[in-house]
Amino acid sequence: MAKNILLVGGGYANVAAAKALIKRYRKSDEVKITLVDRNPFMTCMTELHEVAGWRVEPDSVRIPYAKLFGAQKIDIKSDTITSIDFDKNEAKSALNTYPYDYLILGTGAEPNYFGMKDVEENSFALWSFDDAMRIREHIEKTFEKAVAEPDTAKRKKMFTFVVAGAGFTGIEMAGELLEWRDVMCKKWRIDPSEVKVMVVEALGFVLPPMSEKLRAKASKYLYKHNVEVRLNTAIVGAEPGRVNLKDGSAIETDTFIWTCGVDGTHFADSLSLSQGPFGKDVPEGKRNRRGRILTTPQLASVDYPNVYAVGDNIWFIEDGKPIPQLVESAENTGHCAAHNIMVDIDGAGEKENFKNRLRGNMCSIGGKYGVSNGMGIECGGFMAMAVKHIANLLYFWGIGGVNVCWEYIKHEFLDIPENRSFVWGLGRYKNRFYWSFLLRLWLGVLWLFEGINKIGEGWLNPAVNNPTPSAWLFNNPAKQRGSAAWLAAQAGDATAAVTAASGAGDATAQAVTAASGAATEAVTAASGAAQAAADTVTAASGAAQAVADTVTAASGAAEAVADTVTAASGAAQAVADTVTAASGAVAAAVAANPPVHGPYWPIMTNPVIAKDYADRTKGVANWFTNWLMDGIMAQIPYMGMQIFVVVFEMCIGLAIIGGCFTWIMSAISVLMVLMFIFTGNFYWYNFWMLVAGIVMMGGAGRGLGIDNWLQPALKNWWNGTKFGRKHHLYFDNPTK
Ligand SMILES: Cc1cc2nc3c(=O)[nH]c(=O)nc-3n(C[C@H](O)[C@H](O)[C@H](O)COP(=O)(O)OP(=O)(O)OC[C@H]3O[C@@H](n4cnc5c(N)ncnc54)[C@H](O)[C@@H]3O)c2cc1C
Repeated sequence: MAKNILLVGGGYANVAAAKALIKRYRKSDEVKITLVDRNPFMTCMTELHEVAGWRVEPDSVRIPYAKLFGAQKIDIKSDTITSIDFDKNEAKSALNTYPYDYLILGTGAEPNYFGMKDVEENSFALWSFDDAMRIREHIEKTFEKAVAEPDTAKRKKMFTFVVAGAGFTGIEMAGELLEWRDVMCKKWRIDPSEVKVMVVEALGFVLPPMSEKLRAKASKYLYKHNVEVRLNTAIVGAEPGRVNLKDGSAIETDTFIWTCGVDGTHFADSLSLSQGPFGKDVPEGKRNRRGRILTTPQLASVDYPNVYAVGDNIWFIEDGKPIPQLVESAENTGHCAAHNIMVDIDGAGEKENFKNRLRGNMCSIGGKYGVSNGMGIECGGFMAMAVKHIANLLYFWGIGGVNVCWEYIKHEFLDIPENRSFVWGLGRYKNRFYWSFLLRLWLGVLWLFEGINKIGEGWLNPAVNNPTPSAWLFNNPAKQRGSAAWLAAQAGDATAAVTAASGAGDATAQAVTAASGAATEAVTAASGAAQAAADTVTAASGAAQAVADTVTAASGAAEAVADTVTAASGAAQAVADTVTAASGAVAAAVAANPPVHGPYWPIMTNPVIAKDYADRTKGVANWFTNWLMDGIMAQIPYMGMQIFVVVFEMCIGLAIIGGCFTWIMSAISVLMVLMFIFTGNFYWYNFWMLVAGIVMMGGAGRGLGIDNWLQPALKNWWNGTKFGRKHHLYFDNPTK
């Protein structure tokens, strides 16, 4: 009989457990996995304050289970479990009964009010999606009302926002408020000094789990941004519009957010399972907290070996302390429980005792600042925020792959309002698509005309093959398969293709050799003559008495020098003649094989406009033409290549004009332009096409373009496919 594993609660802990179980039993029909959560989505609790403080859109903290699990082998139910019969192995909701062989309880936590009913009734909690939305809507309305409030005392109360608790949740909430305050003040034209954000904490410091250094950084940032942090201040009660403090004073406020403590849930409390301290064993009247489920070291309930507890709702002591209620603890407990259930079912392997492995803490204070102590490295500001985002992305990659990561990036950077990100608004991408409409038309028309122009040039005419019209795309046109030069080379008639050039080269080489021989001889002769002249001068000065003879000898020597110089200049003339002859031969060879130019040649040769950009014998252009063009593209038969270029240019043109598949067509446009650039046939004045192509990739087809309808329809179809769901490759949300 198939075993039923039932997971109640789909938070961090049970998602980790479910993923591990699915991985193990994805090919087995012997195990059935069911996850029941009261919501159809997983709530990213760690980002709730961002929703509450209006930094991100509500959807950013809700990941539909359908998206998380795609086509994986798990049954997801949206339901609220109200009771569990541990003897019958059944969990029940108002409408359904879920039988199980193994149960994992991961129902999370709830705020702890330490028995202060009045605080519970007069404050906002931040422990669920609904809580976050309540705070968000309340603050928006409060600003709206306060602006019109003529009574100064009431107005002051409305503009006082109190966060109770300086732990992670409290400081993160205050951080959002300090940023949102500025945005709202600007919107409602209020002096920010009128609006007060306060943090009230019973301890003498903020962020208890952090080091002194990081606490100091956080405090400094809060102080700098006019957040009043009241330490050593205990809250003892609350009433409408008022928070009562232990010293007898009170704070007047319409917004009191409670983040002071975490408790077990009402649901876990209602189960007939043993709890940790503060639980049911505490004598009547003394109990002021709900308990958490007491577990064995293997995370099974101490009462029922097939019932496991994970995440925030367990009571497990490690190193003398209960494990902290954090995401990492939740994930670790999920993995441990799943492992021990698998060992039980498979009857193989060893069960493991729970060991918590925590890598660090991060606390954001608004979107632009944070403190972090990940893996022993402490940092604040930009680095801390970068660490937090990377940690989140790694987590999302693990549970939901590329799609969930993309959603996160969109919400945190691309859609971020009011520059509330540590990279400010640099990532914001929303533009009004119709502004790029004319540019899109222009780019499309140009490609269309390019294609039409090429037809006029005979690109589609097989008779034009010597050289082929596409020859200019290659470094060595003779490599183009099927071209006349290529056929000649294949037939062994290499001379037809190469002789002229190599013959000219030979002639040049021979001429240069001859010239250099002649030059050498001339120089040798000249230096011999110079030596003779020197000897003569010596002789002349040594024989003073034989003046006449000496003069005669000297003039004879001078004559010899003159003759030698004449001989040398004759040799130089011979060199010049030879060089002239050689360059004539080269010019003749070039004339016999004229270079093939692109369609812009007349413009390019205009000295004002023309600027040869890419020398195809150098750098990337050389690599590109040799590797891609001569190496790969040359293998396409020349007619195929020409048809390909013409058809592609026309298709790109038409598609871009119509705004159809604009992203892919613009990407191809960019690639084609790059191809032209690197083959040395594209020029500066055409560079705008490259830039325009990239701009078009930003969704330009959605403004007055077919993509407006086509893309949603395609997405819808693709999201429903099994492949897309299985590999988490869907866009937005899966259809089924
Ligand atoms: C504002 C805020 C900020 C935080 N920031 C951080 C942080 O930066 N780093 C960190 O490590 N931790 C942080 N935490 C703590 C962290 O979110 C929790 O430790 C973590 O969510 C615990 O995971 P879990 O799976 O146990 O429970 P949860 O994530 O709370 O999931 C419990 C699930 O059970 C479901 N459920 C409950 N009862 C029932 C029922 N009866 N039937 C069906 N479904 C039910 C709920 O709908 C929920 O989906 C933060 C918490 C808050 C509130």
